[in-house]
Amino acid sequence: MNFSTSISVRGLTRIYDVPGRDDARVVALDQVDADFPAGSFTAIVGASGSGKSTLARLIARFWDVNSGAIRLGGPDVREISNEVLMQRISMVFQEVYLFNTSIEENVRIGRPTASDAELVEAAERAGLSEVVERLPEGWKTIVGEGGSALSGGERQRVAIARAFLKDSPVLLLDEATSALDGVNEASVTSALAELSAGRSVVVIAHRLSTIRRADRILVLRDGAVEALGSHEELYEAGGTYREFWDDQSHVERWRIRGEAPRASL
Ligand code: ADP
Ligand code: MG
Repeated sequence: MNFSTSISVRGLTRIYDVPGRDDARVVALDQVDADFPAGSFTAIVGASGSGKSTLARLIARFWDVNSGAIRLGGPDVREISNEVLMQRISMVFQEVYLFNTSIEENVRIGRPTASDAELVEAAERAGLSEVVERLPEGWKTIVGEGGSALSGGERQRVAIARAFLKDSPVLLLDEATSALDGVNEASVTSALAELSAGRSVVVIAHRLSTIRRADRILVLRDGAVEALGSHEELYEAGGTYREFWDDQSHVERWRIRGEAPRASL
């Protein structure tokens, strides 16, 4: 059962300490306001270091905010118990961390009470069944520390199967496919598209073409909101989004044609 949930971000500031330097701080997000309506698909775009991952992780309450507030369907995330918060949010990030136990247990974390049939269905939808079938120990395969016995693409599939099982109203994706090769990227991308249906989705994507259809695109620049709009609106408005898009279309054109990029890139 998944009821999509709105996310509201107000005055959000996140400051990191710099390890080993007591005097240095990094302001990763500075007074960010953003709304993610229930059931909407919102992309976050911005240069490396602009604060995208920090925003996604704060929504999942990896850390508390330095100032400001995040509300999930009404209450502040700080008022929601960790257990409930984790039921409401599924995450698939570039680096998936798995527990050093079996594939089955890693998927069941999504919903420990799930039946075997539900487990198998989640694996099927996530493209994990073919991995389980290939491994001699199948579901009982121990994944190693952090999931090191599996490939990056296999770890993503475990995380996606977990998310299908959890069936949470909010889904956060942070460059979930950026480290994958072509075959894995295609499979994981289509599983994520299915997983996104009917949820509030916040996606950080390295390929702009995959977010063109987003309901809303939030552009971050140096930890602040530069713009918010649809693809057409942002492209028309110019700014960082248009620069990114023009650069990337150029890169994709030469990739498709098999030509070398121009030296100016
Ligand atoms: P993005 O995902 O857009 O690349 P991040 O949210 O990862 O950006 O980072 C925003 C800023 O915060 C960057 O300057 C980055 O170096 C800094 N930062 C991110 N994580 C940490 C951390 N754990 N400790 C210190 N600084 C960090
Ligand atoms: Mg990031």
